[in-house]
Amino acid sequence: MADIHANLIGGEWTTSTNASRNINPSDLSDVVGDYAQADAAQTEAAIDAAAAAFPGWAAASPQRRGDILDAAGSAILARKDELGRLLSREEGKTLAEGVGEATRAGQIFKYFAGEALRLSGERLDSTRPGVDVEITREPLGVVGLITPWNFPIAIPAWKIAPALAYGNSVVMKPADAVPGSSWALAEILVQAGLPAGVFNLVMGRGSVVGEAIVASPKVTAISFTGSVSTGRRIGARAFETGKKFQLEMGGKNPLVVLDDADLGTAVGAALNGAFFSTGQRCTASSRLVVTEGIHDRFVAALAEKMQALKVDHALKPGTDIGPVVSSDQLEQDLRYIAIAREEGGRLVTGGERLSRETEGYYLAPALFADTDNSMRINREEVFGPVASVVRVRDYDEALAVANDTEFGLSAGICTTSLKHATHFKRHAQAGMVMVNLPTAGVDPHAPFGGRKGSSYGAREQGSYAREFYTTVKTAYVFGG
Ligand code: NAP
Repeated sequence: MADIHANLIGGEWTTSTNASRNINPSDLSDVVGDYAQADAAQTEAAIDAAAAAFPGWAAASPQRRGDILDAAGSAILARKDELGRLLSREEGKTLAEGVGEATRAGQIFKYFAGEALRLSGERLDSTRPGVDVEITREPLGVVGLITPWNFPIAIPAWKIAPALAYGNSVVMKPADAVPGSSWALAEILVQAGLPAGVFNLVMGRGSVVGEAIVASPKVTAISFTGSVSTGRRIGARAFETGKKFQLEMGGKNPLVVLDDADLGTAVGAALNGAFFSTGQRCTASSRLVVTEGIHDRFVAALAEKMQALKVDHALKPGTDIGPVVSSDQLEQDLRYIAIAREEGGRLVTGGERLSRETEGYYLAPALFADTDNSMRINREEVFGPVASVVRVRDYDEALAVANDTEFGLSAGICTTSLKHATHFKRHAQAGMVMVNLPTAGVDPHAPFGGRKGSSYGAREQGSYAREFYTTVKTAYVFGG
């Protein structure tokens, strides 16, 4: 394999004996690149490098940290088209989505460049005379970041930027399916002047690299985004080894559509929320909970819009939906489509593999109607372009069905009733609530995260990120 993209360990680009080939899911003959696979010893070396670099970075002025993050943000924005293209090639989302995601990553770095300077403490009057109580925030140490494949640059960015802004050093393991975007980020951070060892990239399998990061006593905290099963396993291990951890996991997000909804708004929210990014979003609107007065019109209008979507090569102009990310994910999607049929769901449209000019993992977006909330299709995360409709009598039943899930990431409602929108906002058991919007699509400066089985620990993004990436110190000072 020529030109293997190396891991970044202690400021050195370090190759490995093993590499994995990154293939474009839109065109299996297109090799995105070869990427080194770290082993446990290299992961350990990256952790040691991060530990050695930590004191210097923690002591660096917030201005210096901010300047480096700002330079990284500018570089990402300047390269957004190229990075977006790389992202679309390795993950399969459309070029517009890829460029949008790269732009977001740049904006996130810019945001946290400012946050580095805004970190403040607090002073309290003591209950004891002559004593001052000072509350300050300090970095944690070496932070391990483990990310999924579905947002190859935005999720790494929203973990790396706050970790560095608040003075931590980083060991990062991207998803094995999409190492290219993280490799590009590592290159940008080096060029932005980040001191050696402050950021380390170790690519490779979760079972090797991820396990080594989570097991290491030198790693103080883990920020993980991925599936529920991996997250729970990592959480248990992190707890055993005394680490702080946050887990962002799956979703089965309901989008409630009430009789009084604007039909166009509701169909648009469902179409975008359930199927854009090939439905591969933790916040995807995968359960459509629809009251009976609008049900038939909604299903017919949504199916019509779905049939007009162009599923094709992610880089082709006019493509609305790219391929599924991998053969494993495609198999999982097809398995759930078969399960939904066996359970008695009515396939309204889609659900079949598609052939295109280039060989890729193309799937027609699938809509099931006549499903019950107890069916597996409504209880388990598919993580593909598959949505199901549950027909309900009224708002009260809609809310009950929306909340009847082990997940609690995002929940949406389409209605023109202020009363129902307000009630839903208060009573939806989810970390994020959307009114007349898809369940997916969030702002980078607002807190992100869920409840119940979807999330564990502090929120990500915006100023709330400091809750995870810093630790609070309370000092009592008696001046005499
Ligand atoms: P995944 O299979 O759980 O993998 C996530 C990451 O964990 C990957 O880097 C993976 O490495 C690594 N990993 C696997 N086993 C590990 C282990 N034993 N120890 C340490 N690390 C390990 O998830 P995915 O398939 O990449 O992503 C899809 C999932 O992410 C969906 O469930 C989706 O809902 C969730 N997600 C959640 C959010 C959110 O914010 N709530 C956002 C996006 C995605 P490999 O590359 O080797 O598998």
